[in-house]
Amino acid sequence: MSESSDAAVSDRGFAIYVHWPYCARKCPYCDFNVFAAKDRDPEPLLAAINADLGDWRARSGPREVTSVFFGGGTPSLLSGGQIASILERIDSLWGLGADAEVTLEANPEDRARLPDIARAGVDRVSLGVQSLDEEELRFLGRLHRPEDALDAFDLARKSFPSVSLDFIYGLPEQTLDAWAVQLDRALELGADHLSLYELSVEPGAAFAYAVRRGEWAPMDDDVAADLMEFTYERTASGGMPAYEISNHARSPEHRSRHNSVYWRSGDWVGVGPGAHGRLTTESGRVAIECERQPARYVEQVTNTGRGWRVSEPLSELDQARERVSMGLRMTSGIPVGDLADLGFSLDGDAIAELTEQGLITKADGRVALTIAGRLAADRVAAMISP
Ligand code: SF4
Repeated sequence: MSESSDAAVSDRGFAIYVHWPYCARKCPYCDFNVFAAKDRDPEPLLAAINADLGDWRARSGPREVTSVFFGGGTPSLLSGGQIASILERIDSLWGLGADAEVTLEANPEDRARLPDIARAGVDRVSLGVQSLDEEELRFLGRLHRPEDALDAFDLARKSFPSVSLDFIYGLPEQTLDAWAVQLDRALELGADHLSLYELSVEPGAAFAYAVRRGEWAPMDDDVAADLMEFTYERTASGGMPAYEISNHARSPEHRSRHNSVYWRSGDWVGVGPGAHGRLTTESGRVAIECERQPARYVEQVTNTGRGWRVSEPLSELDQARERVSMGLRMTSGIPVGDLADLGFSLDGDAIAELTEQGLITKADGRVALTIAGRLAADRVAAMISP
């Protein structure tokens, strides 16, 4: 297989995403590729992930790994030793420098494993707190209580140099005051990073059926927009400004380097059931998707040595559109000439029109969304893309 050769893409970072697809229980809002953990033996899947990494190394050639991210699912179901086996494998294939960021998503109920996971080489944890209100947690189908989340945060603080917390807002009938209480508590905790997501009802998730049965109605769009604008204002005045649509950091060094690779359209490896990846090779950039079902993923890796089932070339137009839609998510926006290497440019007329409407700004050679523009990010990206 060919080796990566595009210097511009190399500059955008090279990340490794490891998908652990099991959860103790599926949350009703979740539409990720997850399966009930039950009492499955994790070893066959761990072995398959480690073998699949070898196939990716053959395709990518030598690259400097800027970050590793254990996501899911619930990777905090794994022990420190199991996490370490994957990190050792990555180190033996590409080399894992001391300055590479290594993040793991953890659920508060798994907090007892956090010190062990830190010793395995993880230096950043992303805790799925979601809310510090008992009733909201019950509505979201979470297994932990507010006090578990606070305990987990204390332990995470002692174990990791960088701690991020996830919260969800926009629950049905949640008032701005109720969200303000949650957000202020999140800010007071003093985490390094916050990911604040608006609840969305995804087709196929249990919540979509509940809404269809008339059990509850999603938040009105105007109210949701008010909550989102309030979130940007409050986090900015609370020392945690947004640097991306849903992500806030105490300082630039606590921004997610891993997610920046996605937003900047770098290359990344995706291993584990249903993981996606992007790789730039001599013959172009490809979008890769792994087999989704864990047993089939293990079987395929065992039989063929690779976990992917789709490896599709991305046309230059596809790449340009993806680069705009991902890049615009960052509050710093994208350089006006960002698409030049792909042979495209941004739509100048659309930029002028959207600037007039107050949805984007153009300054210092960059185009960025305004707060109002963040509420219409997909439409704006589609308009200024080639
Ligand atoms: S714990 Fe996370 S990944 Fe698992 S079901 Fe809940 S939201 Fe989805």
